[in-house]
Amino acid sequence: MEEKKTAGEQRRKELLYAPKNGWDRLEAGQEAALRAYCEDYKKFLDESKTEREAVAYAAALAEARGFRPFTRGMDLQPGDKVYRSNRGKALMLAVVGSDPLSEGACIGAAHIDSPRLDLKPNPLYEDAELAFLKTHYYGGLRKYQWVAIPLELHGVVALKDGSVVTVAMGAAAGDPLFTIDDLLPHLGAEQSKKPLSEAIPGESLNVLVGSRPFQDDEGSDRVKLAILDLLHQKYGITEEDFISAELEVVPAFRASDIGFDRSLIGAYGHDDRVCAYASLAALLDLEVTPKRTAVCMLADKEEIGSEGVSGMQSAAFDTFMSDLCDAQKIPLKACYEKSFCLSADVTAAFDPNFADVYEKRNSARAGYGIGLCKYTGARGKSGASDASAELVAWVRRVLDEAGVVWQMAELGKVDAGGGGTVACYMANRDIDTLDAGVPVLSMHSPYETVSKLDCYMTYLGMKAVYEAGR
Ligand code: MN
Ligand code: MN
Repeated sequence: MEEKKTAGEQRRKELLYAPKNGWDRLEAGQEAALRAYCEDYKKFLDESKTEREAVAYAAALAEARGFRPFTRGMDLQPGDKVYRSNRGKALMLAVVGSDPLSEGACIGAAHIDSPRLDLKPNPLYEDAELAFLKTHYYGGLRKYQWVAIPLELHGVVALKDGSVVTVAMGAAAGDPLFTIDDLLPHLGAEQSKKPLSEAIPGESLNVLVGSRPFQDDEGSDRVKLAILDLLHQKYGITEEDFISAELEVVPAFRASDIGFDRSLIGAYGHDDRVCAYASLAALLDLEVTPKRTAVCMLADKEEIGSEGVSGMQSAAFDTFMSDLCDAQKIPLKACYEKSFCLSADVTAAFDPNFADVYEKRNSARAGYGIGLCKYTGARGKSGASDASAELVAWVRRVLDEAGVVWQMAELGKVDAGGGGTVACYMANRDIDTLDAGVPVLSMHSPYETVSKLDCYMTYLGMKAVYEAGR
């Protein structure tokens, strides 16, 4: 027998905004799909420690699902699946809709670069018979978190003859790893008095790579020589070749379930590969031809301002879109003004251990679903694209109709800090854009944590967006 509600209870239900924990809202049958999705995501993370590796992995998945490289002038029909790699560091994919591009596209944009330590152009040196690599950090990282942890070295060395050597040292089982030394507490009294931001200076992030001298040599720097000898044997490179290399020092951690209940995933690079994978997987999983053309953009360089040829500010995206539009003889601007972009990037999850930097009523919570951010930015929304009320209303409807668990989010207290995404660069193109993404604990650290529920809901959210006619 149904209990009779009091008038107050009835009005509460009707009037109050009271988000519920997503795990309580999971429908029967969703559990297995959620679990399978997260296993696939963990595999993607382990294979994609750099933007180049993410592009290669994503392109291979797309090829296996019938996507083919898109070249200018190619004839396009509704349902066609195409992709284009931008210099191997960013990837654009599209499923051509049944409506012409003059009706706009539904775009999911995420980034595949993550904070890390890049090698300097002349990195290798020896000191006190230990060999090190000098680094220059990339993106906003907390330097004290990168010492005394296992590290890998991934990237490419481009040689003068035009060939490119791929490096992924530490990725295979049995590979050696690297590390950056920290000071022992016994001698750390002075260091411990310094602020966190100064205790580990950027110039001290030197990666330990060897200690055994070259045999049969009387010269100086015998350890360095021995390392160069090994590098030459393995990769055919010399010291000068570091000058034209992109080598990234990344954490050696594998993606793992976190918690007795396995409800979370710990890994390096959730920001923003968690949204990149959701945007990609949702596009690959589209079962029927969408009304509007669905586009997935996996961008590089977000962590340093979306600059450069492979960043979201690059014309490479406009060129891809205008090549698509040309196939239908539609002006690019006519497509853009009717397009929608979900700028899929992570947000901060409320952390009770650091509650004072969050505003509880407007913070994303782990397990409450994909977090929508009307605006990001800092110091009075500076750098935000600030989506319109009408657009947010439309996204609420699309997500609710698809049964997606979502929440509204703002990154931290007013004036506590802030951050940006690719959203403003999409909006600057005259594309209606809203930020949304997975809430992360320990964001930008070598080992970030997300809720599996939020990963899966972001995937479902991206799918709903791609399928939404507008
Ligand atoms: Mn991000
Ligand atoms: Mn970031």
